[in-house]
Amino acid sequence: MSYPVVEGSRLHVSRLGSAAPLVVALVFAPLASLAGQAACPAPAGLTGGASQPEATVRYLADDALEGRLAGSPGAHCAALYVADRFREAGLEPGGTGGYLQTVPLASAVNPHAPGGTGVNVVGVLPGSDPALAGQAIVIGAHLDHLGRGPFGSLSPERAGEIHNGADDNASGVAALVLVARRLAAGPHPGRTVVFVAFTGEEIGLLGSSFYVQHPSVPLDSTVAMLNMDMVGRLGHDRLIVYGVGTSPQWSDLVADADLSPGLELAYQQAGFGPSDHTSFYGKGVPVLHFFTNLHQDYHRPSDDWQQIDFPGIIRVAELVAGIASRVADRPERLTVVQGVGHRPEAGEGGGYGAYLGTVPDFTFTEPGVRLGGVTGGSPADRAGLRTGDVMIGFGDGEISDLYALTAALRSHAPGDTVAITVLRDGTEVRVTAVLGDRARDRQ
Ligand SMILES: [Zn+2]
Repeated sequence: MSYPVVEGSRLHVSRLGSAAPLVVALVFAPLASLAGQAACPAPAGLTGGASQPEATVRYLADDALEGRLAGSPGAHCAALYVADRFREAGLEPGGTGGYLQTVPLASAVNPHAPGGTGVNVVGVLPGSDPALAGQAIVIGAHLDHLGRGPFGSLSPERAGEIHNGADDNASGVAALVLVARRLAAGPHPGRTVVFVAFTGEEIGLLGSSFYVQHPSVPLDSTVAMLNMDMVGRLGHDRLIVYGVGTSPQWSDLVADADLSPGLELAYQQAGFGPSDHTSFYGKGVPVLHFFTNLHQDYHRPSDDWQQIDFPGIIRVAELVAGIASRVADRPERLTVVQGVGHRPEAGEGGGYGAYLGTVPDFTFTEPGVRLGGVTGGSPADRAGLRTGDVMIGFGDGEISDLYALTAALRSHAPGDTVAITVLRDGTEVRVTAVLGDRARDRQ
């Protein structure tokens, strides 16, 4: 997940750190051979009763893959691993070279994109109903993460350390593999299902942007997109479902599919958001994004497999498979509602401007921005803001939601002194913050 509007989630750095050579602590094995590609670590040592999602997360989030920065050798090994899982599940190759779809990583809007190429991994389960098989549902999860930073990292003091991205987004890929296995085991859905593990999400949704320009099934025949990004921290059953406003059929359909996994669902309407579903919704496809919320390890080296709720991933996958089956077998297409949520603005790729240091709680649906965390030592921390505070005022303006906060920050400059009003245990509290410089403070 790469939240382009969350303050503090973008870094301004002059260049990406060059990827260090792939250091492999595991047993080498020729997982697959590609010209110019070093051998990848075998998924060794994970067979002792490890469930499929645990095996997938632990492979992808191993230090040997060095944080899966798009275009890096570790990201390529991750892609080969997923291609093998798709093959095992019985999916047909949907890329340009087998399961792999080569994606240019240069970006017009993100100066931090590394250039060169990465790969999406695409597997196809052909539809079983001749009348519907020409239409498709895409189920996706991004495979890349931040490498060693610093771009995207929220731990500038730990620059150079491997950011393993177990929740972001090895967890979503593990769920994707489970959904593929489940649907491929039959009965096969009526419409075609295309499974995609995207590259380049963290550097600007590059893999999904490329896919919608070069889809396996034409976009006007793509009836829905289901995105899993950060689904590894289910904990107490609460799953956030974004995009429910993008089709009037979603809420009934999702609730029906949830009868079996029985998750507590927090519906959010917006179809535009900080992950790959945005690329599809921008093309008029109804979308859902499944998300188990932010946490203090988000975009930090501490996002490791030990914190992952593996049974939770299985339950999320059960829900997503159920939704996919229902969409795939409906005689009618879903009705799309356009323009729900705020479309990301061009140019958001460049980190700049004023910095506060708060982490929003995305489960909060009332007016204001509830803080799910405060970055230690940040301007917010120094001002005395706390986790659980609901920010309702910033300078002269009201803060109705996260977008209002983003706009408020953009209208200020580093060094500005700003009065901030929060609700703390129902009482209005005013604090004063001296805004930091995102470029300087985040490195
Ligand atoms: Zn992310």
